[in-house]
Amino acid sequence: MLRIEEVTKKYKGGKIAVDNFSLDIKKGEFICIIGPSGCGKTTTMKMINRLIEPTSGRILVNDEDMLKQDAVKLRRKIGYVIQQIGLFPHMTIGENISLVPRLLKWTSTEKDKRAEELLELVEMPKEFLDRYPHELSGGQQQRIGVLRALAANPPLILMDEPFGALDPITRDALQEEFKRLQRSLDKTIVFVTHDMDEAIKLADRIVIMKDGKIVQVDSPEEILRNPANEFVEDFIGKERLLQGRPNVQTISQVMSKNPISITGKQTPATALRVMKEARVDSLLVTDESGLLKGYIDLEAIDRNRSLDSIDTLIKPSLYKVEEHSLLRDTIQRLLKRGVNYAPVVTESGH
Ligand code: ADP
Ligand code: MG
Repeated sequence: MLRIEEVTKKYKGGKIAVDNFSLDIKKGEFICIIGPSGCGKTTTMKMINRLIEPTSGRILVNDEDMLKQDAVKLRRKIGYVIQQIGLFPHMTIGENISLVPRLLKWTSTEKDKRAEELLELVEMPKEFLDRYPHELSGGQQQRIGVLRALAANPPLILMDEPFGALDPITRDALQEEFKRLQRSLDKTIVFVTHDMDEAIKLADRIVIMKDGKIVQVDSPEEILRNPANEFVEDFIGKERLLQGRPNVQTISQVMSKNPISITGKQTPATALRVMKEARVDSLLVTDESGLLKGYIDLEAIDRNRSLDSIDTLIKPSLYKVEEHSLLRDTIQRLLKRGVNYAPVVTESGH
């Protein structure tokens, strides 16, 4: 459905942001592009959406060359959700949703009907149409951002870190909701993230990028099982670590640094203080018997200082990796790179 052929982007000044990128995407596929900041993800998305011209290469949607199409035709084919939420603050939610239909010269009746239909998809009341973006929560605004991309019912949706700015709880909810929506609407999705958890949860195939180049393209399971090289291994290392079921003792032995133990009932402020004293970036969450249940990172706690307890910030482990030796290797590698973990036991066994 989408074919990217040997696409390269060289910015003025000589920076090669995307280097000979080729990928074939099937209809209905959910592709996640992931890689560290600056590796060329946004540049790739902007080229697909024709916001910037590739220096060389071709991009085809259903065998039609996107680089030769006019803007209106392109809008029928591609919906775009940008990295910042990007709703226009002076426009109502209804006007924001109807931007592309307006460009396509739909009648007011058509536009209104479609906007109401879209709100129903995410179970938001139609009264929201007359509100302004600042009257909505971050999560609600991002739902509208997604609806706006769906408005003219394009077969291809591009999403550039759409949930990156949201708190972990809202992000989780939106990921679930969006995955369901995508299945029912049968869209082809290209989704950029730097969060491996998110990619594993959503993608049919994951494209891992580094310095403008594709390093590996595979299903999440295959990437976890057979990382192409050390870069991919390192990149997924943190997530893989969190998918194991070590006991506290295993982790403590390996870490031997500063294992700390606090309960999930602690306030964010206490957790932050304890973590800073122990110099740890993340807490591994285990139950009383030492089974790994999930993790919390410092950043998430920092962003949610007003919560009563850190219990709700726990991100569950997604996969079960039974091989402890693998887990031990991963922890050791992370420790070498200066990333510290500490086990935390929650009272609730959460
Ligand atoms: P990502 O989205 O993966 O963080 P980008 O595609 O935004 O990466 O950027 C890739 C590289 O291209 C970075 O090194 C960035 O500094 C550079 N870059 C991005 N936009 C421009 C631009 N308009 N002019 C020059 N260099 C740019
Ligand atoms: Mg980007």
